Amino acid sequence: MSDPAAALALASSGLRFAPEDNPFRTVIADVTHRCNMVCRNCYIPNRDVPDLDADWLIALIARFPRRIRLRFVGAEPTMRRDLPDLIARVRDTGHLPVLLTNALKLADRRYVARLKASGLRTVHVSFDGGLDDDLYEAVDDLRCATKKLAALDNMCAENLFVTAGMILVRGVNDGHLPVFMDHLRSRPQVREIHLRSVGQIGRFMETDPFRLDELIRLAETALDRPRDSWQRVERGRSHLDFFVDGVKFQLTEWPDLGSEERGRITPEGFVEPFFEHVMANENRY
Ligand code: SF4
Repeated sequence: MSDPAAALALASSGLRFAPEDNPFRTVIADVTHRCNMVCRNCYIPNRDVPDLDADWLIALIARFPRRIRLRFVGAEPTMRRDLPDLIARVRDTGHLPVLLTNALKLADRRYVARLKASGLRTVHVSFDGGLDDDLYEAVDDLRCATKKLAALDNMCAENLFVTAGMILVRGVNDGHLPVFMDHLRSRPQVREIHLRSVGQIGRFMETDPFRLDELIRLAETALDRPRDSWQRVERGRSHLDFFVDGVKFQLTEWPDLGSEERGRITPEGFVEPFFEHVMANENRY
């Protein structure tokens, strides 16, 4: 975080919950800090943290007072060989497992089928370059369009629910948004599309991040729909959720402080607001 005083204030905000008191509907578990990519925008570039212990995680989430969406994040969760087993164990606790991934490994249809057989139904995938290898190289430092799009095909073929995410970098990939939106909206399995600005934390491109009002205008253009035609619009301090043609969109200006939506499991065994915890622990956890 660029402002140490703000980070300190967040770190000492006292907003932490024992598992029994967890108020969040979505809880994020950083299951590994290993990754097979080196993206130019990565809020969590620290690779020195050991993998989360599976037994510890399962025991902790079993204490939650109500059913939640347990989002596996990393760095890259598919680096863990035991990911299918972890998914099945989360299902056994009654919670809903969700995978957040760069999807390189999901280019293998057999792997996608295995994840589904373990109990996975929802996958969030980053598509920072959309359909274009040059854009992936510019944003993620890897020409990976073929693998990402093969992964999308595989997830659709396995009838998984897909959330497509894109970090928008001013003057780099924002112009590609209309073409990519058309591609995504032709896939009924794509249920959600998340667009967010670059987070100036961890490793990031020196750019002027989009503000929420700019993200709204970009979405209006990309969808060719004015905002007043969007449905079920909900505005938070730094995000806007809405539906168009049954697809949920989420626009987020990083960081979405004050959000009551997402919590993060901390190494000490508590749950804290996601963005606040990430910022207060920059480059550590
Ligand atoms: S953004 Fe995700 S996929 Fe890219 S380097 Fe970071 S953890 Fe890996």
